[in-house]
Amino acid sequence: MIVVKITRKCGICGEEINLVLDILDLVYDEKTKRFLHAKCEKERLLSRKRGRMPSDEVDSLVEKMSVDAREAIAKCVTQKRRSTGSRNREKNTSDNPKRLLTDYLLYTYDLSCMPKYIYVKLASVYSGKYEGLKKPCPPEDLLDMWQRKQAYLNRVYEYNKQKGNCMDSIQRISYDLAILLSRYDGYLEWKEKQSLLGEQQQESANVIYENIIPRANKPNRHKGDVSIADVLDEI
Ligand SMILES: [Zn+2]
Repeated sequence: MIVVKITRKCGICGEEINLVLDILDLVYDEKTKRFLHAKCEKERLLSRKRGRMPSDEVDSLVEKMSVDAREAIAKCVTQKRRSTGSRNREKNTSDNPKRLLTDYLLYTYDLSCMPKYIYVKLASVYSGKYEGLKKPCPPEDLLDMWQRKQAYLNRVYEYNKQKGNCMDSIQRISYDLAILLSRYDGYLEWKEKQSLLGEQQQESANVIYENIIPRANKPNRHKGDVSIADVLDEI
């Protein structure tokens, strides 16, 4: 399978963007349905004369827009694959949450294909059989957690790398999955609160989950002997 190439133009500077390769530097404007460089949008927000925002508000808005970008890109990739027929044709793939999640993992971790045991592992998450998981975690929840925590997971990865614990993409997926699931109950609580808060206050509540620091419940030795509990305690 070849990584899909989809290009757009940045709605601000007009330069060509490769949606898959530039994913970490992009934001998506829901109103205009355009992709923008995060840097361009940040500059625009900070320099505009009317409705100027403090820089921390700009940061959290841009962060939210980058989550939107990942969602929008996941859909573009699925549609592109479907239209070019480069994958097996399935009905409703763009609405298939399992497919959205695996597509997200493929391009975020820069993989051309996923080993079978990762699929087996994900299936055990969806069914609730994954070790230490108290209840099934559906792909929608896992994708949402993953996208919201991606920046955090990247920091954990950098931290481990500095400590000499290098991981390849496949190891990272297993490791990051363990981190996310160690705080699945926290995510569910947060989601519950979100729905109670209602539409109006959702933006401020969005920030809160981002600030939840995952904690491993028990020492959790994984491949490469990098202890999640140790790392999370230190970050
Ligand atoms: Zn730009």
